[in-house]
Amino acid sequence: MKISMVSEHASPLAALGGVDAGGQNVHVAALSSNLARRGHHVTVYTRRDDPDLPARVPVERGLTVVHVDAGPPTHISKDDLLPFMGQLANGICQDWGKNVPDVVHAHFWMSGLAALQAAGRAKGSEPVPVVQTFHALGSVKRRHQGAADTSPAARAWLEPWVGRTADWIVATCPDEVFELKALGIDPAKVSIAPCGVDLELFNGNSDGGAAADLYRDGKARPSAVARTRKYRILSVGRLVPRKGVDLVIQSLPLLADAGFDDVELLIVGGSGDALALEDDPEVQRLRATARDLGVSDQVTMLGQLPRDAMPGIFRSSDVVACTPWYEPFGIVPLEAMACGVPVVAAAVGGLRETVEDHGTGLHVPPRDPEAIAAAIAELLGDPALRVEMGRAGIRRARSRYSWERVAADTEKAYRSVLAATQRAGEGYEPLEGVVL
Ligand code: UDP
Repeated sequence: MKISMVSEHASPLAALGGVDAGGQNVHVAALSSNLARRGHHVTVYTRRDDPDLPARVPVERGLTVVHVDAGPPTHISKDDLLPFMGQLANGICQDWGKNVPDVVHAHFWMSGLAALQAAGRAKGSEPVPVVQTFHALGSVKRRHQGAADTSPAARAWLEPWVGRTADWIVATCPDEVFELKALGIDPAKVSIAPCGVDLELFNGNSDGGAAADLYRDGKARPSAVARTRKYRILSVGRLVPRKGVDLVIQSLPLLADAGFDDVELLIVGGSGDALALEDDPEVQRLRATARDLGVSDQVTMLGQLPRDAMPGIFRSSDVVACTPWYEPFGIVPLEAMACGVPVVAAAVGGLRETVEDHGTGLHVPPRDPEAIAAAIAELLGDPALRVEMGRAGIRRARSRYSWERVAADTEKAYRSVLAATQRAGEGYEPLEGVVL
């Protein structure tokens, strides 16, 4: 099959951990690579955010990344990218020429706009079917972030339009299917393929490899693996408030009250540049929280770590804390489980499905530092339980969340949509009132 992936802000080639670079980048990279290994020809279209990027990057046999000119070739926050989606669609169409793909798979709502526009303008005799994965939904974001949500206002109606118009939706968890239904999207055209985890990289068998000890600017990074305290808790992710890292900091004094004061909290994510990391308002907010609670000496912020440093840091930890306000899917808990580490997970979104409560970790209610402290204390106080849950995590990650399996499930969705659209032979309704 000839497959076009569209991922406007999340390039599969980007460094991870920055404000707009996380799970979607991992997902697009791993899914595309695994589809290519299944014999498909995959092209990923993403926005050029640096003038020095080559137009085409051959990644591996069957997989190419194309950087499309859409807006200024510099980093632009994803919330400001909407005006450039028409250009992205044009660039995709130009690259296709007469050689249109069998299927387009768009990632995130804005990519869906570009994909539907490109598919509508494509020069093939048959319309190109569009498959959509949202990764995150504006309706959920707004519910949790309220006025702090900086998404464009038009997301409120464009995102459901994308959902209704795309031929098929691949959701990542049952919770998302429920949310899609609430947006008026027909569940009959929704299937589920979760995110996966790279089981070769993230595994619980080998010893933790040494993490890189330099920031990208060459400054020394605090040792990522050597412990300074008896117990280690790890938090990994983009440093944005909704990830709830402050809640884990707030749990530290409560843990001390419960007798666990020899505990360090490592926080991975944010900028890979030491100076930029210190300037980050979220880093300053987290540092102030730790200072106010008198736990600064227990908290280490490592900034962005490269991919190959992640398994070692997971394996060096007793507990991984994933305590977001909400989470569309969450790849970090899968990585922790694959490395054999129990997860304390807020019972929200995809985490309710991936982390098995009392099996591979413990669920806690969202935004509840007392519950987080109690769950961490339960695990720190019971080494045998940690080992048991770690083993269950490895089994669960291997049996359900390999990218090979996710790619096979996604391919199934492509095949059913191809069969259905070839039968119907329909085009798309134009998007009234929107000029992209
Ligand atoms: N990540 C990384 N280095 C960092 C921070 C994060 O490699 O410094 C990776 C992390 O291991 C995971 C991804 O970024 O693979 C985050 O994905 P997740 O789905 O948990 O969160 P999202 O970013 O999508 O909200």
